[in-house]
Amino acid sequence: MINRIKQLENVALNLEPNSDERAQALNKTLQYADTFLEELPTLPAYVMSNENGRSLYQSPITEGGIDMDTILTLLKSNVDKPGINPASGNHLGYIPGGGIFHSALGDYLADITNRYAGIFFASPGAVRMENMMLRWMADMVGYPETMGGNLTSGGSVSNLIGIVAARDAHNIQPEEIRKSVVYVTEHMHHSVGKALRIAGLKACVKRAVRVDQNYRMDPDALAQTIARDKKLGLNPWLIVASAGTTNTGSVDPMTPIGDIANANQLWLHVDGAYGAFFALCDEGKKILTGMDKSDSVIMDPHKTLFLPYGLGAVLVKDRQKLYESHYYQADYMQDSLEAVEEPSPADFSPELTKHFRGLRMWLPLKLLGVAPFRAALEEKMLLARYFYHKIQEIEGFEVGPYPDLSVVTYRYIPKRGNADDFNKRLVEEIHKDGRIFISSTLLDGEFVLRLAVAGFRTHLDTIDMALDILVQKVRYLEQNV
Ligand SMILES: *Cc1c(COP(=O)(O)O)cnc(C)c1O
Repeated sequence: MINRIKQLENVALNLEPNSDERAQALNKTLQYADTFLEELPTLPAYVMSNENGRSLYQSPITEGGIDMDTILTLLKSNVDKPGINPASGNHLGYIPGGGIFHSALGDYLADITNRYAGIFFASPGAVRMENMMLRWMADMVGYPETMGGNLTSGGSVSNLIGIVAARDAHNIQPEEIRKSVVYVTEHMHHSVGKALRIAGLKACVKRAVRVDQNYRMDPDALAQTIARDKKLGLNPWLIVASAGTTNTGSVDPMTPIGDIANANQLWLHVDGAYGAFFALCDEGKKILTGMDKSDSVIMDPHKTLFLPYGLGAVLVKDRQKLYESHYYQADYMQDSLEAVEEPSPADFSPELTKHFRGLRMWLPLKLLGVAPFRAALEEKMLLARYFYHKIQEIEGFEVGPYPDLSVVTYRYIPKRGNADDFNKRLVEEIHKDGRIFISSTLLDGEFVLRLAVAGFRTHLDTIDMALDILVQKVRYLEQNV
């Protein structure tokens, strides 16, 4: 047996490279990353391909490993080429993500040290770091010290956690679901609907409250709908407002909505996955007033704090409510949360063991300070306004509402033919070209184009290039269709 153990140990030791092996693998990885960053400005924002990474399958997982160079070649051609390039500043579709360099350093260290960020006892420092990040965001929102929260994998999971906390705080029992009412707008992010379904609340009554001409929830319509539902004997319990919709970037008026929630004792959940971080800059803060009136809010550092994918946040004003729906062991903190020094993330989330997410956020904030983030956010808002004005100077383009944050909707009205068809073709042409990536949506039944400015690498030259490309493609299509 000893021989077998020794034999096995010998093979298992491959899991622990020595200093030289580490240096070699690390150098190659760093070189790959550096080349990627150096080439990035010239790389397309979108690559259509038939291959689509298929040759990954031609290199199956085998008993023995292969060399790092081959691995990086596989990665380059199969993964880092086809599809959208989210690291590109020319990505202007959906809601672009981030990927700042310094977060990668945090991730590297988090992966090497592998601190256990789920439970205070296991890694008091890692847990304090997560809680510190949550408090920093809570200050931005205007929540009191008694708030609770969690660093999640992203906005969808954050929405689920917030909605589950709301469900339990309102004690929605199975037999009441069918008469319990949720108030949203038609612009609510689909992950809210998904969260309601996963939370067992699919059968709730959902009211799409009327929006105004800026696609913001109309508070009067909300109040009237709640009053009517109460008369009908229904159980209004949840309002979901958007601090920046994905569709148009509109910010629902949270002050009056919060007052209505308060007066009627409804839970107000604010989806700020895209928009809440704009509160860091003065321009955004004005537009986002009233976030503090909510009971829960979500925000995505992997969107507008420009961090790499895999970091969302949920905050709940009353920590106890979040705890009651997510704790897993009542014994050791049943009397009061104050009995332990710091809340443990595992008690505020479905997760137990998790990636030490705090470090990828804390490290860049410490290293760079808040100023560059604040500046980048104001820059994004101003770039959207710049595009909004410039696109109107091009003959044939019409725009949607003035942007609340950094999304602009617009479309081209062709000299002849159907506008929807023309704009569909326009997006296709732009995707084929690949230099920039934009997306489209339907507004009031019409096909419209969107420009979302949220990438930290998106600057004035990007917007000028986008305007040029739009002009070129419109000219081409006007002449060729
Ligand atoms: C992106 C987004 C979500 C979903 O967040 P993920 O991080 O993609 O899961 C939810 N709400 C809004 C408004 C969003 O923009």
